Amino acid sequence: MFLRLTTAAVALCAALPAFADEVNVYSYRQPELIKPLTDAFTEETGIKVNVAYLKKGMVERLQAEGKRSPADLVFTVDISRLAAVVDGGVTQPVESDVLTANVPEIYRDPDGHWWGLTTRARIVYASKDAVAPGEVTTYEDLADPKWKGRICTRSGTHAYTVALVSAVLEHHGEEYTKTWLEGVKANLARKPQGNDRAQVKAIWAGECDISLGNTYYMGKMLSDPKQKAWADSVNVLFPTFENGGTHVNISGVAMTKAAPNRDNALKMMEFLASSKAQEVYASANYEYPIAPGTEATEVVKGWGDFTADDVNLMTLAGNRKAALRLIEEVDFDG
Ligand code: FE
Repeated sequence: MFLRLTTAAVALCAALPAFADEVNVYSYRQPELIKPLTDAFTEETGIKVNVAYLKKGMVERLQAEGKRSPADLVFTVDISRLAAVVDGGVTQPVESDVLTANVPEIYRDPDGHWWGLTTRARIVYASKDAVAPGEVTTYEDLADPKWKGRICTRSGTHAYTVALVSAVLEHHGEEYTKTWLEGVKANLARKPQGNDRAQVKAIWAGECDISLGNTYYMGKMLSDPKQKAWADSVNVLFPTFENGGTHVNISGVAMTKAAPNRDNALKMMEFLASSKAQEVYASANYEYPIAPGTEATEVVKGWGDFTADDVNLMTLAGNRKAALRLIEEVDFDG
């Protein structure tokens, strides 16, 4: 009798987490971006959100934890990182009318494993002194010899660059992309180094005239007294592909395979995709919300309108390996 009771008690304890009103998140994104959202979600639903902020090794950790993982959701940026989580076999597909209605098709996995929440464009920062507004119109143009010694960029192997090169591949094929990479490399003012903001600083310092960077860094520089001068020295230009739009990437969410609090996790995903939450999330990092009817903040809109490239991000994830190979073949960082 005693033994049976104990077994029942153990079974009850094991089942408890599934009933507790909480949801557990592993995030590569920073607390200041996540906190406003988790607070709003808890206020609306009463569900507590526990967030573990990770710097790296998310896939390995989820794999090691296996079925006993406490994580329900994964937050990260860049299609390559979302694809890596899915490829690692640690996510599950999610079906939801709310998510399908709010997340445009090109920003979600056809199988429902990852869902985009906000976008950022990879654009050109151009010196106000040395580059006329409208002088940069396409990504293709960056390989033109007229830019010789005038371009700064971060490493070719960084996820942001790899995604852009994946898009060049999608639009133009392998031969063109290799030639394009060689052309851009020949135009560099210095070897690729530093982050996106370091390139704008280099423009401010007169080392180069244009750089590649993500849109939200403009907002970050403007709000940092030490970096405001860098931002003030450049214009934000939105290049397009000759046969497409402006290259964008996403921040997104995926549900883990183990997800002990599956129902709460789904509620949170649907909350994140809602117009209200998207605008909060996007404004925290100067990004673009993607749900129909949502708008970026005034500061972000002030940088200009653009048409996002319509390549499905899953396609870019698929081109990643080939892109990286070409980047190494031309020794882009060398
Ligand atoms: Fe970034």
